[in-house]
Amino acid sequence: MLANGRHYLAIPGPSVIPDEVLRAMHRASPNIYTGELHLVTRSLLPDLKKVAMTSGEVAIYIGNGHAAWEAALANVCNRGERVLVLGTGRFCHGWGGMAEALGFETQVIDFGNTSDIDLNVVEAALREDTQGKIKAVLAVHVDTSTSVRNDIAGLRTAMDAAGHGALLMADCIASLGCDRFEMDAWGVDVMVSACQKGLMTPPGVSFVYFNERAKAARANVKIVSQYWDWKPRAAGEEYWQFFAGTAPTHHIYGLRTALDMILNEGLDAVFARHAHLARAVWTAIDAWGTDGPMRINITDPTKRSHAVTSLEIGDPDGDRLRDWCETQAGLTLGIGLGRTPPGGFFRLGHMGHVNAQMIMAVLGGMDAGLKALDIPHGAGALEAASQSIAAAV
Ligand SMILES: *Cc1c(COP(=O)(O)O)cnc(C)c1O
Repeated sequence: MLANGRHYLAIPGPSVIPDEVLRAMHRASPNIYTGELHLVTRSLLPDLKKVAMTSGEVAIYIGNGHAAWEAALANVCNRGERVLVLGTGRFCHGWGGMAEALGFETQVIDFGNTSDIDLNVVEAALREDTQGKIKAVLAVHVDTSTSVRNDIAGLRTAMDAAGHGALLMADCIASLGCDRFEMDAWGVDVMVSACQKGLMTPPGVSFVYFNERAKAARANVKIVSQYWDWKPRAAGEEYWQFFAGTAPTHHIYGLRTALDMILNEGLDAVFARHAHLARAVWTAIDAWGTDGPMRINITDPTKRSHAVTSLEIGDPDGDRLRDWCETQAGLTLGIGLGRTPPGGFFRLGHMGHVNAQMIMAVLGGMDAGLKALDIPHGAGALEAASQSIAAAV
């Protein structure tokens, strides 16, 4: 009834697309063979590296995050070789499942849906691998299903402490441009990301970053499908580098503008904005939770992502609240991905193009929904969020 007006999508990807990005994409098809599109494409590479804080290479693919998952795996392992999968929610298991389907052997350590990676357990597993069978360690920086943020720098330290030579591969699809990530300083060999979350562009373009160690691993891979091979994409002729076929013309312009916005704001400022807004969200949820069932999935704030928050509320109130917000307030909340019962969970995306008033509006819509549906909740959530934002500025 009160849903008409500009709809707000508060799911953890795709994220809100800035008007500037939409305007940059609103144009006639450009020439794909020569001219401006090539210059703009070339200009993306150094800025993509800045956002990931790396001097390594980056290959761009047409495809979503799943494409980057497959591309990354295809370049570093031969069939039958082993990868270690560190599960902290739906996404690393998804990546591991893809590795298995590609014919790799997977060794899975499952840390459950409410914890981050236990680095001591990983170190012990690597020490046990005395023959060096594990070729790569797969970890998700921010698991979008649980909203846990894993300590990727600590993972490198644990791998080094075990004296293990496996590659460290990180999924930063949810975190890039939201939660601080420093590819080179943290010793990450391969990183995958995509454009539709922190990078504020419609889904359809993804990235595989890799360093010298990863290149050495690539040299030992016997068969890499031509399409996924990162070699010609990172440094080859323009045809290959620019997408091995028709370029995603409009995405290129959109991404160019999105990267400009991020770099003009400054990476530190972008990370700080996400941190402050996440804190406002958590403060509100904690207030609701003082007298009701709502809980943030990850208890320890230092282990939470600043890009997404996964919450538990009890079945079926997660579904009821999402439905109310969608139909009565014009606000779409994220589903409880990979959890049982799914109706007991939901997620909030606060990644990319978000500011204080957007966050207050999301929390306001949810607050009204809790009241309309008679879902028990503590008072003062909006007041607490408002104070949190005031204190941040
Ligand atoms: C969104 C997401 C993916 C999947 O990306 P798609 O573009 O949907 O294929 C993988 N990993 C993480 C951590 C994500 O957040």
